[in-house]
Amino acid sequence: MTITRRQFIQTLLLSGGALLFPGQFSCRGISANGDAFRPAYLALEEKGQFAQRIEQAYATFENCTLCPQRCGVNRTQGEKGVCRATDRLVVYSRQPHFGEELPLVGQKGSGTIFFSNCSLRCVFCQNWPIAHEGRGWDISDERLADMMLELQKMGCHNINLVTPTHVMPNILNATRIAMKKGLTLPLCYNTGGYELTENIRLLDGIVDIYLPDFKFMDADMALRYTRSAGDYPEQAKRAIVEMHRQTGDLVVDERGIAKRGLMVRHLVMPNHVAGTRELVAWAAENLSKDTYINIMSQYRVEHRAFEYPAIARAISYEEFIEAIDWAKAAGLSNLDRRSIAQYEVFKRRI
Ligand code: SF4
Repeated sequence: MTITRRQFIQTLLLSGGALLFPGQFSCRGISANGDAFRPAYLALEEKGQFAQRIEQAYATFENCTLCPQRCGVNRTQGEKGVCRATDRLVVYSRQPHFGEELPLVGQKGSGTIFFSNCSLRCVFCQNWPIAHEGRGWDISDERLADMMLELQKMGCHNINLVTPTHVMPNILNATRIAMKKGLTLPLCYNTGGYELTENIRLLDGIVDIYLPDFKFMDADMALRYTRSAGDYPEQAKRAIVEMHRQTGDLVVDERGIAKRGLMVRHLVMPNHVAGTRELVAWAAENLSKDTYINIMSQYRVEHRAFEYPAIARAISYEEFIEAIDWAKAAGLSNLDRRSIAQYEVFKRRI
């Protein structure tokens, strides 16, 4: 198997230079089975700061500002804001997931936990029974911790927290409980991108992999197609810059499995609704040209999208091809391999 320059550098960084200077460095990198990896939260616990972060996070439930909607409701008293969640955790499912990006999936899958409810409530939501209707099961933080450990036992490569924003305090608490029982997998924070930067700062030293969507570049589009999230572009940009500051570009081990860093998802929408051209230019300029970006082609008309003519159809081959061409022209060099394969297939079809 050939190894690219980027993969070589990533492996080198992870091996602490041992590849170039065998015998001169003790290897602080990642062994073939990933044993040497230490998730960020272990270091935070050693510094005695993890418990305090959980306390800080839990305090927000009383006057909820866990996302930019800033509802100010007291969720400990059962009040509900835009996301319709109280301070109880609702989980829809958990399993090894093989449909995520390849660096998350590896051989054994991404340990995915789907949380119910969502603060964005997009009209085209592809998970609307879970995100909008809140279908799922009430569980305790302790049970969530056990789920994390079960996924680790199954051999999953990470704990992939889907739509975590409104339950972030529970996640932190559960992670610490699981950590004390032996959790050592990296946390992957799989968010819709509608985040307050101050809350992302609370995750510094806890989350190893950030996986935000970056949905819209235009405030009018965001306002039209979500529940009152017209500030989405501005909030997402700030939050993603902070995620990148904390974890940097994606780092994988010698098997190609993600250990740390930022992975951005962008769903191409019909009629340039998502602002792909501006978005890739922004990412190249404000993150890094090596940022891992998955430009996705799978938009489909779901939930209430059929009520909005501009998004009431799938994207065309041409719309996806131009999206990838814009990303390449912007200098982005770490595009998801499967999206590039899709691009090649579409090019052959037109
Ligand atoms: S997490 Fe929910 S209740 Fe809290 S601010 Fe966001 S939408 Fe409102």
